[in-house]
Amino acid sequence: MSNSNSKMSLTTKVLLGMLFGITIGLVINISGLNASGSFVNEYLVNGLFFIIGKMFVTALKMLVVPLVFFSLISGVCGIGNIGTLGKVGGKSFILYMITTAIAIAMAITIAALVGPGEGANLTTTTTFIGKEAPALSQVLIDIIPSNAVNALAFGKMLQIIFFAILLGISILMIGKKAKKLVKGIELINEAMMNMVNIIMSVAPYAVFALIAKAISDLGLSLLADLAGYVLVLVAALLIHLFVTLMIVFKVFTKNLKISILLKKLRGAQIFAFSTSSSNATIPVTLETVTKKLGVNNSVGSFTVPFGATINMDGTAIMQGVATVFIANVYGVELGISGYLTVIIMSVLASIGTAGVPGVGLIMLSMVFAQVGLPVEGIGLILGVDRLLDMIRTAVNVSGDAVVSVIVSQSEGKLDESVFNDPKAGAITKEDLEISSDVEKEMQDIIKETVQEK
Ligand code: ASP
Repeated sequence: MSNSNSKMSLTTKVLLGMLFGITIGLVINISGLNASGSFVNEYLVNGLFFIIGKMFVTALKMLVVPLVFFSLISGVCGIGNIGTLGKVGGKSFILYMITTAIAIAMAITIAALVGPGEGANLTTTTTFIGKEAPALSQVLIDIIPSNAVNALAFGKMLQIIFFAILLGISILMIGKKAKKLVKGIELINEAMMNMVNIIMSVAPYAVFALIAKAISDLGLSLLADLAGYVLVLVAALLIHLFVTLMIVFKVFTKNLKISILLKKLRGAQIFAFSTSSSNATIPVTLETVTKKLGVNNSVGSFTVPFGATINMDGTAIMQGVATVFIANVYGVELGISGYLTVIIMSVLASIGTAGVPGVGLIMLSMVFAQVGLPVEGIGLILGVDRLLDMIRTAVNVSGDAVVSVIVSQSEGKLDESVFNDPKAGAITKEDLEISSDVEKEMQDIIKETVQEK
């Protein structure tokens, strides 16, 4: 490996992996090499690419529950003050809800002005079975796990957050005697972060495989049929990411630079794009906000998993544009009250649903059922949704990170020297090696422990 190559940052390598993935995926798709039964399709797209991609996403998911659990307990112990904890929770909840509401209102306005789907003569080719919206009362009841181990085993994020915070507070109540326990949890948290680094070291190849498979399966040609819908949606997503979120960021943080924020967010956005899941991206988002953006772990450990679950700006934007589009296609007049219902429903639906691939469509069916739009209309946009899911997940994750920085600074828990340091948090080769000093140290510790016994 040449010198310049080994110095390339991980984010740059991941970005290259993504660009290569798009290129190879397009070549395979356009040349028709992906015909079912062909060698390329069997052994490369559905073989090698699929296996590498799947293994990587599974490894990321493997990290989520223990990472959130231990970092949240150590975060609560780190804050050491229940009032501050309440303030972090309150502020992030309000910001998450407001940004999501702005996102969908803006999306509806843009879509209503442009009018995608007007006079369209589209017919649904696929059917989509809708889902009933869970009642708000059920969403609230479900925050409390009836069995904590079940919540952990099934990765129920709001329940895990609830239990971990309560456990953190209970540990705080022990006082001095809990010192070793707190230290132990902090160390497990540090070990989990090291595990993130280990898994991330293969990210450039995994991102290549994920993107190459997605693009060779989907191609871009099917976007043309629904060009109006796709263009308005992508434009609204970009406006939210680069204008709305940045205005919110600047209004609250004042002295922090947008250019630095955007540059440091790139890594997490690529992972969100490749995995289409804010939940699977939690380890990367957490590492980005704490190690690169200077958010204190006591804040980030709460705001990141909380945001991955309840904050979905990109998904809300999709719902706004899709509602206008389908209403136009079917010639339904929703009126102001109809659109207001859409806004409220989308914001509420985002609270009870986890950030996993394709969940936006399920939320959309709840919204449609509420305002009386034909749920089978979703069949129209089903084909292009996989690709759009990738983009909106990147916007969802960006919203989580922006709110984390704002809340952290407002609590005096943002290390601005880390935020401003362009090299902060970059994973280097040294991070992945166990130095001979550390190895020796650990051997001594193990010897001592054995002798003590
Ligand atoms: N995939 C999105 C996420 O994980 C949710 C969605 O819009 O489907 O954030």
